Amino acid sequence: MDKRKKAVFLDRDGTINSDEYGYVKDTHEFQLYSFAKKALTKLKKCNLLLFLVTNQSGIARGYYSFADLATIHSKMQNQLGEAAFDDIFISPYHIQGFVKPYNISHADRKPGLGMFKQAVQKHDFQIKGSYMIGDKYTDIEFGKKAGLITILVQTGNGREEFLFKRQEWSYKPDFIADNLLVAAELIEKLEKK
Ligand SMILES: [Mg+2]
Repeated sequence: MDKRKKAVFLDRDGTINSDEYGYVKDTHEFQLYSFAKKALTKLKKCNLLLFLVTNQSGIARGYYSFADLATIHSKMQNQLGEAAFDDIFISPYHIQGFVKPYNISHADRKPGLGMFKQAVQKHDFQIKGSYMIGDKYTDIEFGKKAGLITILVQTGNGREEFLFKRQEWSYKPDFIADNLLVAAELIEKLEKK
């Protein structure tokens, strides 16, 4: 039996924090959902690695810098404490941006698998049975293409994506959960089996 840990890949905006501001440009706009720490703590107790995989096209668009993002993420990690992410992967790219060299389409941008491949190179974990949680179809497509168990949360864009766009989906999420805490409780149950 594979003794390596499994991992949970998590989207950021609309999944662990509110995305009501659109682009989160500074720490004041970054608000973890009230249940985020509890949910991530549950996942850590299941002996799972936590990887954040976040599309941050705001860098290509010139809305904020890598330094701004680092400040936001260090605040986030501090708030999470023992439930902090084991690693954070960022895609700064967008074809419609103007900040070079990030104004290109790039495999690192979900649903491309660049960030997943980076995680595989950096960390020794068991892909089979690992998870992806996100609020957009692109998160589900990313997870499915990577061979992960996928959960669409209904926070952020999740409800709208499910209600109005699911006819267009080529991949279906394995599960749909009200929010990250419900998703974590589901994973807890699956891991106990
Ligand atoms: Mg999102």
